[in-house]
Amino acid sequence: MNYSIALIPGDGIGPEVTGPAVEILDAAGDKAGHVFHYVELEAGGRAIDSTGVPLPEGVVETAARCDALLLGAVGGPKWEKLPGDLRPERALLGLRKGLGVFANLRPAALLPQLRSACPLKDEVLTAARPGGEPGFDLLIVRELTGGLYFGERGRSADGSSAFDTETYSRMEIERVLRTGYASAAKRRKKLCVVDKSNVLESSRLWREVAEELAKEYPSIETSYMYVDNCAMQLVRGPGQFDVIVTSNLFGDILSDEASVLTGSIGMLPSASLGSAGAAGEKSIMGMYEPVHGSAPDIAGKDIANPLAAILSGAMMLRYSFGLEKEAALIESAVSRVLDSGLRTGDIAGRGNTGETIVGTRAMADAVLKAVEDAP
Ligand code: NAD
Repeated sequence: MNYSIALIPGDGIGPEVTGPAVEILDAAGDKAGHVFHYVELEAGGRAIDSTGVPLPEGVVETAARCDALLLGAVGGPKWEKLPGDLRPERALLGLRKGLGVFANLRPAALLPQLRSACPLKDEVLTAARPGGEPGFDLLIVRELTGGLYFGERGRSADGSSAFDTETYSRMEIERVLRTGYASAAKRRKKLCVVDKSNVLESSRLWREVAEELAKEYPSIETSYMYVDNCAMQLVRGPGQFDVIVTSNLFGDILSDEASVLTGSIGMLPSASLGSAGAAGEKSIMGMYEPVHGSAPDIAGKDIANPLAAILSGAMMLRYSFGLEKEAALIESAVSRVLDSGLRTGDIAGRGNTGETIVGTRAMADAVLKAVEDAP
């Protein structure tokens, strides 16, 4: 099949990590006769330099005509002093809103090869784990286009007080919960709704909608947790979680906390989906990007870890195109390369022996070869 992919390499390390991701997508597609056509677009700092705005006219529309969007990262010190609505990161909000991608999926799993990169003790990592193996494998589904980040905000006339508003409609809560259930159905069939319904009215609506919806998914075990407890449980026993569904603000914070447990931000992919995305469906609009930013401190030095971007490509195959086999091919290629001891600097040198430190290009080449050599 043919698929069109909007490609926004962006700023800093963005182009260095999306370049390899594209090569590896092509290699995985080749194996099954799939062809990916890329439409390269500018957004973020690069777009400010060439057009004066972070999200030039037509970019969202062009991306929306494609089957999915792959993005590197945007931003950097060069544009930091610009006013809020002219900053590169504005492009992200515009793309999310414009493409209608309301559910952000962030998997966080501990790869056995990176055990020593996780700051938690063995007894914490074995809690609630089948077979007592240290580790965790969870997915945070964060609501992305509502809540506190999009609510009404302001200052009093004299500037001495300020407010932000958390507003959610039933529809917004229900659709992100359905994405969570669709994901849980493909995983270990557990879903935890995280809120602050002991205090917040908006959270009480989340809980109400979730309790109604849970009846439609009897094969999934639904549980509920307050966000403060969840923050604690993530570091007391992350193995207890499968899928966590939560609001924009809570998801932002909890997913950063979970990312630290995996060892490096350079390993973490993400998907933002526009409909109840379950693997196996065809062509769901999605925006795929590594969790990390543009890392200006290491840009252009061939030391950035390309694996988060490469794994974002795998998520695209799974969630937008339903190409589960090809997605798994990329993921197992990454795993084999880590087995062989290759490490970029961010995941190296934590007491492991037998490691070889390599740069961005060499790491990408090794994954590419592992995909090409796979049976
Ligand atoms: P960052 O994620 O870019 O970097 C944080 C730290 O992690 C840095 O030390 C960096 O060197 C390291 N790091 C990040 N990615 C890495 C990789 N792939 N391999 C190895 N090390 C890696 O966050 P920051 O420094 O807070 O932000 C830098 C810029 O990126 C800012 O302009 C910020 O607004 C922007 N940003 C963009 C996005 C996005 O485009 N989605 C997300 C976050 C931050």
